Amino acid sequence: MVSKTLKSLLEFLFPPACPLCGAPVSIHGELCGDCWTAFNWIDGAKCVRCGYPFAIDVDDAMCPVCASGKCELDWIRSACVYDDASRMAMLPFKHSGRISYAHFMSRAMIWALRDIDVSDIDFIMPVPLARRRLFHRAYNQATLLARPIARTLGLRLDYDSVRRKYRRDMGHLNSRQRAQNIHGVFSVVRPDRIRGKNILLVDDVMTSGATFSELRRALIGAGAANVYGVTFCRVVRSV
Ligand SMILES: [Zn+2]
Ligand SMILES: [Zn+2]
Repeated sequence: MVSKTLKSLLEFLFPPACPLCGAPVSIHGELCGDCWTAFNWIDGAKCVRCGYPFAIDVDDAMCPVCASGKCELDWIRSACVYDDASRMAMLPFKHSGRISYAHFMSRAMIWALRDIDVSDIDFIMPVPLARRRLFHRAYNQATLLARPIARTLGLRLDYDSVRRKYRRDMGHLNSRQRAQNIHGVFSVVRPDRIRGKNILLVDDVMTSGATFSELRRALIGAGAANVYGVTFCRVVRSV
C-alpha cells in the first residue's frame, strides 16, 4: 500500500520521460515512438550464425563470412545497426554517464535473442574493461547492459574471471590494426570457472569483431566449450 502510494507520488513528481528526447512515455526508461523508429532495428532476415541483417527475406541462411567458417563467436546477435541514431545514444551512454540508457538498450538486446535457445548458456560475461579505463570512466558500460540481461534470463554474471590489459583506443584503427592492437589483451585468471562452460559475452557495440574474437580465443584456450555474444548495435558492412 505504502509503496504503491510512493510510486504514484514519484510518478507525479517525475513523470516517465523518453531518456533520449524527454517526451512523455508510459513506462520509465522506455523510448518514445519517434525515438524508437529512428533506430535501424535488426528485425528481418539475418545470418543464423552472426546475425548479419539480409536485405532480402531468406530462411536459415549464413552470410559469406560465416559460411567460410570465420564467425568471431559461436553465434552473435545485435539489436540494431550502428548508424547515426545508435551512435547518438551510444556515445553519451559510454562517455557522458547516461547510464539510464541501459534500460532500453538491454531490453532491445533481450529482444535480439528471441530466436536463440538460451537454455545451454552457463553464465554471462560483460566484455572486461582495462582497470585504467574503468578508473577514468567509473563504470563498464558492458556490465550495465549485462546485469539486466542476466536478471531476465535468470543467469549469473561473471565480472572477474578475465582481466584486460590497457591498450590505446581503437577508434581510428582499421580492422587489421584492431586485431593487432587487441592481440593478447585478455588473460583468464580463473580458468576453473571457464572450463567446459558456454558463455554469453555482452558488449555495447560490435565494430570489426576483433574484441570478441580475441576474448573467445582466451576463453577457448582456458577450456570454454562455446562462446556467444550479444551487443546493442553492430557495424554492418556490405559482404
Ligand atoms: Zn524520444
Ligand atoms: Zn554471419
